[in-house]
Amino acid sequence: MGEKMLKIKNLHVSIKDKEILKGLDLDIKPGEVHALMGTNGAGKSTLVKTLSDHFDCEVTKGTMEYKGKNLLDLDASQRANEGIFMSFQNPTEIPGVNNMYFLKTALNAKKAYLGEEEMNGAEFLKLVRKKTKEFGIDPAMLKRNVNEGFSGGEKKKSELLQMVVLEPDLILLDEIDSGLDVDAIKTIAQGVNSLLDGKRSVLMITHYDRLLELIKPDFVHILKDGKIIESGDYSLALRIDEQGYEGLGIRHETK
Ligand code: ADP
Ligand code: MG
Repeated sequence: MGEKMLKIKNLHVSIKDKEILKGLDLDIKPGEVHALMGTNGAGKSTLVKTLSDHFDCEVTKGTMEYKGKNLLDLDASQRANEGIFMSFQNPTEIPGVNNMYFLKTALNAKKAYLGEEEMNGAEFLKLVRKKTKEFGIDPAMLKRNVNEGFSGGEKKKSELLQMVVLEPDLILLDEIDSGLDVDAIKTIAQGVNSLLDGKRSVLMITHYDRLLELIKPDFVHILKDGKIIESGDYSLALRIDEQGYEGLGIRHETK
C-alpha cells in the first residue's frame, strides 16, 4: 500500500449544476482516522458520495487520488473492489435480494477483482456466522432483503456486517451514529475499531462527541460552504461540542 491512501486537491463538485464543494483539500494517510464536522448543508455527505462515485455528484475541477490511482478513472464497483467502503446516511433498499446473497456476491466480486480465490457457500457461511456472533447481529437479518423494512438501527448493523466482511482499506462513515441507541453505537465503534490495524483509514462524519469518544480521530476538520476551514486534533471536536459552531464563529449561510 505504501504511504498513500487518499489525497484530494482543490476538489469542486456540483449537484444539478449547483456548486457544493468549492476547492476542498484533504490528505488521509494509511492508519489515520479523520472526522469531518460542520453545519447541516455544508457538503459533508456530498464529499463522501463523490468518493464513492454517486451519480448525483459531478466533479468539475480538482483531483482525487486513492492509493496513487486517479479515482475518476474508477467506477463505483471498482472503487469498492479497490477497498473503499461507504456507509450511507440513508442506505437504499434492494428488494428481492437477500443480505446473505448480497454479501457473498460483493465479497467474491472483490476477491475476483484482486485475483484471489472466491469463497464457496460453506466457507462464506462460516465467515458470516463468526462475524454476526462477534458483533451481536441477529443472523435472521441475513435472510431478509437488503435494508427492506429495516429499522434505522438494523440498517446500520447491516452496514456494519458488510464492513467487517469486506474488510475495506478506506472506511467512509456518514453519520453512522444518527438515530442509534448507546449500545448500538458501541457495537458500530467496536466493529470499526476491530478493523483498525494501523493501515486502514477512516473518514467519519458525525455531529456527536459520543462516537468520537469511541473511535478516536487523529484529525478533526470543519467543513463550511464547500471547503475545509479549520483542521485540528480531537480537541477541536470538544470545542465544537462545548461551544457549538456559532460559538466558534461558524455559521452556515443560507441562500
Ligand atoms: P451535509 O451532509 O453537510 O449536511 P450535503 O452534502 O448533504 O450537506 O448537502 C450540501 C448541499 O447540497 C445542500 O445545500 C443540499 O441541499 C444540496 N444537495 C444535496 N443533494 C442534493 C440533490 N440531490 N439535489 C439538490 N441539492 C442537493
Ligand atoms: Mg449529510
